[in-house]
Amino acid sequence: MRCAVFSSKPYDIEFLSSAAQKSQHELEYFEARLTPASAKLAEGFQAICAFVNDDLQRSTLQSLHQGGTKLIALRCAGFNQLDLNAARELGIRVTRVPAYSPHAVAEHTLALILSLNRKIHKAYQRVRENNFGLDGLLGFDLHGRTVGVVGTGTIGQNVVRILHGFGCKVLMYDVHQSDECLAWGSYCSLDRLFGESDIITLHCPLNESTKYLINQDSIQKMKPGVMLVNTSRGGLVDTSSVIDGLKTKQIGSLALDVYEEEGALFFEDLSQSIVEDDVFSRLLTFPNVLITSHQAFFTVQAMQEIARVTMQTLTEFGQTQSLSNAIC
Ligand code: NAD
Repeated sequence: MRCAVFSSKPYDIEFLSSAAQKSQHELEYFEARLTPASAKLAEGFQAICAFVNDDLQRSTLQSLHQGGTKLIALRCAGFNQLDLNAARELGIRVTRVPAYSPHAVAEHTLALILSLNRKIHKAYQRVRENNFGLDGLLGFDLHGRTVGVVGTGTIGQNVVRILHGFGCKVLMYDVHQSDECLAWGSYCSLDRLFGESDIITLHCPLNESTKYLINQDSIQKMKPGVMLVNTSRGGLVDTSSVIDGLKTKQIGSLALDVYEEEGALFFEDLSQSIVEDDVFSRLLTFPNVLITSHQAFFTVQAMQEIARVTMQTLTEFGQTQSLSNAIC
């Protein structure tokens, strides 16, 4: 099957091309993000492959539909960027890669917590400049701290398991509880989790009920000096409220791998450009904020699995149209 791959980076091309060699699929790579305007590039392609910051709102889907697209294979787990109703109305099938590597995201979450707490990113720079002082690098023992995990699905479960290994007391909140997690932590109300946790980490999807889960009100319920971590989706956090929380020191430190307006920034080298997002720029001014640009998924194992599942989807669509990982 011919498939147009949007938001293609060299690493996407490497892993997808390698997986495509073992199948009959013909991939054409477009560097452009998918938008209503760039959707015209997909004319004549029955299938397209899109990523987290591609625009899959109604107008894009209409344009894809007019060009003959019948399948969108998302090479990610989350699908908050998709207008599901519009896809259904237009008869476009959509698939995702539900669990390419929960370890990748869970391990990156721990990397952020450990780096932010022990200031590894600062220590690295200091030592390279022959500054061997320790002032300002003081951290705390992770052992014995209370960590609140919001969302104990595929990724959250792994985070809970690892934190338990560190000797943390783990509080969990989910709308569907997992028996497996009870070996490593205990479920409680969201308010109790907010009130008792030294670190709060988010692993729930972005939807209507979770949008701005972290806001002025919820921040006020947290322990003063809390560490907040978001490797899930930017829209879970109201960034302006978090900035206020950082200014009043109610939030002691912040680690992000995702940001609500990341579509205009992440995955690109903008080092020669002027960043126009003042909210993001303000975040970067805080000494106690650590941001990575949506790289939690980015391991060899995850990329191989994303490519394998994407080829499997194209094969299934070509042969039976019965899709293992269908959203619609
Ligand atoms: P999952 O579907 O396995 O688990 C999500 C969990 O959240 C489920 O247990 C669900 O019941 C729970 N949940 C739903 N609504 C909730 C609510 N209102 N409050 C609390 N919990 C709620 O998903 P997953 O594979 O664990 O992924 C979690 C999120 O991580 C994804 O939605 C995606 O946005 C994000 N993600 C980020 C990256 C990255 O590179 N940063 C990579 C993959 C996934």
